[in-house]
Amino acid sequence: MTHQPTLATLTEEQLADLIADATAFRNQPSLRHCLYPGCTREFDMMARMNGREPERPSWSGDGWHQVTRGPSPGSICPDHVAIVTAHLPRTVDLPNGRWMVACACEWMSRPQTYGGLLRPLWEEHLLLAAGTLTAPVTLAETPGRLPLDEHTETSLAELYELLEDTEADRAETREAAQAMYKGWDWHRNTLGGVSRAVVSACNMMRTAASHYQRDWTNDRHDAYLWAVLIGFDDEALQEVATRHRWNEHRIKYVREMRALLAPITDQPKEPTE
Ligand SMILES: [Zn+2]
Ligand SMILES: [Zn+2]
Repeated sequence: MTHQPTLATLTEEQLADLIADATAFRNQPSLRHCLYPGCTREFDMMARMNGREPERPSWSGDGWHQVTRGPSPGSICPDHVAIVTAHLPRTVDLPNGRWMVACACEWMSRPQTYGGLLRPLWEEHLLLAAGTLTAPVTLAETPGRLPLDEHTETSLAELYELLEDTEADRAETREAAQAMYKGWDWHRNTLGGVSRAVVSACNMMRTAASHYQRDWTNDRHDAYLWAVLIGFDDEALQEVATRHRWNEHRIKYVREMRALLAPITDQPKEPTE
């Protein structure tokens, strides 16, 4: 337990300690770093505010600027004031809860749903603008990179090769898509035909049952056909199985076959053509 001295009991010595503590606290450097990506320069904001020399000359606040708005607030060191000022970013509100960052140089990011992406996107743009990063070269941009009079036979041949490759790729992709479409269309038509044929057989069996009182459970072959093509409910299937002495394997098999046919026979009715 320490007893805090009150004003009445404070000794000269304690007062001196307190003043020393306060001074030490006041003199603690409070470093701010430059917002330019990768820049390691810092300045001592506390020294700057108190108007005293910082502990290290490199911590001087001379020439530093502050950015208070936009997606990347902070301090800019003298080295980067010019480039950052030329590319000062601001956040633009867009409809549907989206944002983009617009640069002083007229560059704009694509709209983003997550606002946290604005700062890194702008930083990337800044580094590209400063030439620190090299933009990936896309095929479409390649021709624009070399002025026409600097082209040689070789550089043109390369371009034509690239173009031919692209065209060949496109043709191949198109052919593959067409082949897949044809395959799909064939299966669709075939399955449609199979469905109609099976449904017609099922309808015939149902008609025989309802109009001519044909009992499809009497004969084991009839029962098997009904079980697979139309299907019994669980109870009826159990009855039929007992009656015709189907073992569990046969029951399982019948169920399996019914399940395979179900997508064809139980299709939702399509509008008639
Ligand atoms: Zn900097
Ligand atoms: Zn810019």
